[in-house]
Amino acid sequence: MRIDIISVVPESLDSFINTSILARAQKKGLVEIHVHNLRDYTKDKHRRVDDYPYGGAAGMVIQCQPIFDCIEALKAERDYDEIIFTAPDGEKFDQPMANELSLKENIIILCGHYKGIDYRIRENIITKEVSIGDYVLTGGELAAACMTDAIVRIIPGVIGDEQSALSDSFQDNLLEPPVYTRPAEYNGWRVPDILLSGHDAKIAEWELEQSLARTKRLRPDLLK
Ligand code: SAH
Repeated sequence: MRIDIISVVPESLDSFINTSILARAQKKGLVEIHVHNLRDYTKDKHRRVDDYPYGGAAGMVIQCQPIFDCIEALKAERDYDEIIFTAPDGEKFDQPMANELSLKENIIILCGHYKGIDYRIRENIITKEVSIGDYVLTGGELAAACMTDAIVRIIPGVIGDEQSALSDSFQDNLLEPPVYTRPAEYNGWRVPDILLSGHDAKIAEWELEQSLARTKRLRPDLLK
């Protein structure tokens, strides 16, 4: 899989993309992540990509030209399954969307900034608009980072113990059961006896009960 992220502050994505699971996934050749500086595509001699909005509203808007040229340059190299724009008014990002996107070959994620981007790009070029929640961020970079992380960690082979990604919360619409590690007693707090019993079938039953109980208590909406 290949993910191309377009941003006006590409350096803000560097450390994120080059650490932990995302770094490992790229090293293993399971994903390619490329970050493009939108300013490299502007024809403005001061490398500006934004201008005042028509109608006199406050804030600045990213212009069509650099976005169009950047996306056209990428599309000339390969076909893209989705051209995603990060937008607070987009479709809410969730685990099923992450699963679906992780099966794609090539995707572009365009990060907005300032007041947003010229609406004509959204109408004519973008194939999917995605929000990571009902709050407004300064730019789409954190949204792109969240999406990239959630998408990449479920690509088969990225996480060593594949079972681990599939047993996470939201897969199967269930929250994860509680997890513990050594020591069995800390500060007088004991790990549930069942987990120390070595009885795999009973442990699996207990974990399912715990998942159901936690989901019912914390996220009853997922059970509907
Ligand atoms: N004026 C816009 C918000 C602009 S915020 C509005 O009212 O909708 C600047 C950019 O940050 C946006 O263009 C978008 O790309 C990104 N962004 C902000 N909040 C986001 C969210 N919740 N999810 C995804 N992207 C977001």
